Amino acid sequence: MTNANRLLTFLAVALSACTFTTHPTRAETVVSPRQPTSWSDALSGPARVEWEPVLSAKWKVERKGLINLERPEAKDLPKDEVDIVLPVHVIRHPTRGTFIIDTGISKGLKDGTGGGIGWPVSSFLGAMKPEEPLASILARQPAPLAGVFFTHLHLDHVLGLPDVPKGTPLYTGPNETTPSSFQNAFLRGTYSNLFAGQNPTTELDVTKGVAIGEVKQAIDFFGDGSFWVLSSPGHTPGSLAFVANTEKGPVLFTGDTCHTRWGWENQVEPGEFTGDHPANQASLAQLASIVKALPGTTVMTGHEWDAAGPLVAK
Ligand SMILES: [Zn+2]
Repeated sequence: MTNANRLLTFLAVALSACTFTTHPTRAETVVSPRQPTSWSDALSGPARVEWEPVLSAKWKVERKGLINLERPEAKDLPKDEVDIVLPVHVIRHPTRGTFIIDTGISKGLKDGTGGGIGWPVSSFLGAMKPEEPLASILARQPAPLAGVFFTHLHLDHVLGLPDVPKGTPLYTGPNETTPSSFQNAFLRGTYSNLFAGQNPTTELDVTKGVAIGEVKQAIDFFGDGSFWVLSSPGHTPGSLAFVANTEKGPVLFTGDTCHTRWGWENQVEPGEFTGDHPANQASLAQLASIVKALPGTTVMTGHEWDAAGPLVAK
């Protein structure tokens, strides 16, 4: 078992039902100004965002974490290791500024100066191959960072937090920090370091979102139809997905509701890394309904997108 796999096995146990952090939270309601009749209608406005996908790090994990190998569709898949990526998606809104989806890795983690990772977690990160840390990604943006959207708060999505300027709004789904079990003790120090000095997380109230097609709860974050925040529970209680109306067309960011291209194309939810399989599968089906309604949508899965190029739904 590689170090990466030991960590991911550890994380699968530790993260599937634990308090990630004792960092404070606050709730925020974003009221969507209108009720679209369809996804085409939802993205029919003139507003567009710029989208820049960035590879922040590479990693390798066991397939059984990424894919539910118990599903009949997966019976012929090898039980091997899979190369994955840690992406940062930069979203530039014409008037609201620069946002990111997830945080990649920090400069300190790349430089070997720590990056806030405490023992025992630090001993497992050696297999991660740094590419571009968040500090570097942000340094070349035209505007300061206006907010971070977290697909969820698993460790591999918050490693870049030390590079997030203090005071930046940190948006999550509901209840992302509240479930608890004893395993959190292993990670509490690391999460405490990563969130040190940051704003309380802002839990978006998805219950105030609007229903669009088969998607039950969607928030028109900027109020102009250019960026929709979707409740996508299952992988974690507060998992989020996003639909952006970009200059390159519609883009769906699945987060870890779907880790891999195979998982998307076969509509099989993640394996051991996921907390609630039925809920995850229902959320995955909900996301699939979006690209059925919007052919040509680019689908960015949580951890695999560079090997085979962008996945554009037919
Ligand atoms: Zn992940």
